[in-house]
Amino acid sequence: MNRFKCEVQHGKVFPCDTLDKTTDNTHTRSEKGIFALLVPDLVLDKWISKGFWVKTDYYTKGIMFNFCPFCGTDIGSHLKIKAKEVLGDD
Ligand SMILES: [Zn+2]
Repeated sequence: MNRFKCEVQHGKVFPCDTLDKTTDNTHTRSEKGIFALLVPDLVLDKWISKGFWVKTDYYTKGIMFNFCPFCGTDIGSHLKIKAKEVLGDD
């Protein structure tokens, strides 16, 4: 299936084809690259993507993408809404 733009539905990120193909969660934590933030979905009994992040030599702990670097879709604000609910508006 071709997906030209990332989609966020109910807090899950469905990556566009380019982001999907550049993501490689088979690497270990010590390596560089683009990773998916995977969380278990207990209802569907599978892993789902909540977001994507990149790890480099300089940013060894990684940085979350606010937007898809390939299609430009906002793939980070659903995570911030969650934090805002927890911390309050001020
Ligand atoms: Zn994308």
